Amino acid sequence: MKNAIVTGASSGIGLACATRLLQMGYKVIGVSRDFSKCECDHHNFVHLTCDLTQREQLLALQHKIDKANTYILINAAGVGHFAPHEALHVEQIEEIIALNLTAPLILSKLFLKPLKQNSGYIFNIGSISARQPALFGAAYGASKAGLQHFGLSLFKEARKSGLKVVNIEPDITNTNFFDTLRFHPAEDPQCYIEPDDIAQIVADTLTMRTGTVITNITVEPQKFKLEKRPHQEEKRCKKPQ
Ligand code: NAP
Repeated sequence: MKNAIVTGASSGIGLACATRLLQMGYKVIGVSRDFSKCECDHHNFVHLTCDLTQREQLLALQHKIDKANTYILINAAGVGHFAPHEALHVEQIEEIIALNLTAPLILSKLFLKPLKQNSGYIFNIGSISARQPALFGAAYGASKAGLQHFGLSLFKEARKSGLKVVNIEPDITNTNFFDTLRFHPAEDPQCYIEPDDIAQIVADTLTMRTGTVITNITVEPQKFKLEKRPHQEEKRCKKPQ
């Protein structure tokens, strides 16, 4: 059975991708800190608890996952902290870079050999912020721009092996990403992407003719509208560590 490693598989885009891959017959190794609220308990869904910002936990993954059958790596775990840059805590900047950029680079390195041998796929869930500067998102945008460049460069390096590297860069998507933020998508379904839409793109990519590779995909909602959280809800947002 072919293995797919999916980070951020406990919710949102990662969970939607994991669910779709399970339906397609893959064994999915999900990597997140907490699967307790994850409702998918498919028998081929392995839950690996790991804080990807912690170097030792990240490196230990290579010993917990059967490398030989690894065919897909989806780097979906990510975090956003949005504020004037001087107001960000140093720990928040470190978390953004460690989770959104360093972890995908290291995971790709750890599993590159089997992914190349299996002519497999790396999907990087980036963001439209990779190419579009966002107010109060300088650090987040930097992490996603770095991830975009990494993916495009890695494809050039590894394409001869048959490896496909695909950057998927969504705009506003209806997930828990906004739980701790001061804004969230507007209620109109035309104002956000659904996680299943991203999973559909992954599935479509996997079933494309071998020989053609889409290396970078931007995904946008039909309309753009964000809403601010009411003041009282703002107070309930997680405090920065
Ligand atoms: P989400 O529902 O909040 O999912 C984030 C995932 O990352 C969760 O599974 C979370 O699991 C995991 N995660 C967070 N910190 C982690 C850590 N230290 N170690 C391991 N896993 C960790 O948000 P999402 O929207 O699906 O986000 C997925 C990706 O999409 C992110 O890379 C994000 O930047 C990107 N994106 C999102 C949007 C959007 O509008 N939602 C737009 C563009 C790009 P645990 O909490 O269990 O660890």
